[in-house]
Amino acid sequence: MSAFLGLEVRDVTKSFQGGTVVDNVSLKVPQGQLVCFLGPSGCGKTTLLRIIAGLESASSGRLFVDGRDVTNVPVEQRNFAMVFQSLALFPHLSVAENIAYSLRLRGMDRASRQARVNELLDLIKLPGIAHQSVEKLSGGQRQRVAIARAIAQEPLLFLLDEPLSALDAKLRDHMQVELRMLQQKLKITTILVTHDQREAMTIADRIVVMANGKIQQVGAPIDVYRNPANRFVASFVGQSNLLDADVLNDTHVRVLGEVLPMSKIPRGISRNARVTVSVRPEDTRIERVDAVDAAGSNGTLPGEVTFVRDLGDLVELRVACQGKELISVGAPGQWPDIRHAERVRVRLPADAATILAS
Ligand code: ATP
Repeated sequence: MSAFLGLEVRDVTKSFQGGTVVDNVSLKVPQGQLVCFLGPSGCGKTTLLRIIAGLESASSGRLFVDGRDVTNVPVEQRNFAMVFQSLALFPHLSVAENIAYSLRLRGMDRASRQARVNELLDLIKLPGIAHQSVEKLSGGQRQRVAIARAIAQEPLLFLLDEPLSALDAKLRDHMQVELRMLQQKLKITTILVTHDQREAMTIADRIVVMANGKIQQVGAPIDVYRNPANRFVASFVGQSNLLDADVLNDTHVRVLGEVLPMSKIPRGISRNARVTVSVRPEDTRIERVDAVDAAGSNGTLPGEVTFVRDLGDLVELRVACQGKELISVGAPGQWPDIRHAERVRVRLPADAATILAS
């Protein structure tokens, strides 16, 4: 059998005195892919990354790269490159000297080093700054230089821990797109740790959602978004309306006292089971009460608008239905004259809702 190409984490657990922070994690990162570890603060994603890097040893479990067991290979022999949130560029060196650091250690001659540095500066879209001091660079430029310095090593694995979180929102958004395009061009096997679901969805081929040291779900970003495995994933990856529901039969549930049709009730869920219905804000439909006749109101939740927010590129409504607040998001101009305190009906389209075990 040929070896799996890429990184394999097998049954890794890490316990500190305070408890278990990585709990029996197994996952594969195929060669050339970018995988994001996504989860809230304290879920264990940094500890898992540090174990992969070799900066921390696992309490149990093993790591393989291209089928080779690297569990006990010391950090300096793994040939993994790392970029962290708190950058560690050498402040007294120029941009070129920073990037060429690993090339010099490898004994590359001066002319080849220069050529490689210029190539990498082109790649990170910062040509012509080779001789600048790194202290004069902006936050975004520094981060790009750190990435170039890491790439210069030609690492087997590229590990990034919240690399963009110190940047302001606009620059972070820009850098996410750049980092993704760079990784697609170079096809370096990469793991990026983030708590920002938007960043994960921008950058990743696959997302590993973590909570309490455990993997909650692994999948392509849009699959995770569309088909969350549980309540935690539904609320952490994007926004979701989560509603308690009782299953009535194969096609209907009762939510907030109303009978609603649902087309995705999984087989095997018994009648009367308590479940959670998860509906994304953009999937909800808002109907004016005066525009809905008695028959047409079936399958909707009556409510009252409590908040309207027009952000220009989208409009958000909050609607109180039987004491439960639902969020609805629509295109600009979708509800031109909807007002606070207006009575509406919220339709949850039968095929858009995901049914989760409670
Ligand atoms: P953050 O985004 O805040 O860094 P995280 O998901 O990356 O969060 P970790 O940094 O992996 O989480 O930490 C997970 C838990 O492990 C935390 O409760 C942390 O306090 C604990 N922890 C991490 N390192 C150690 C250590 N060396 N000794 C004891 N506990 C630790």
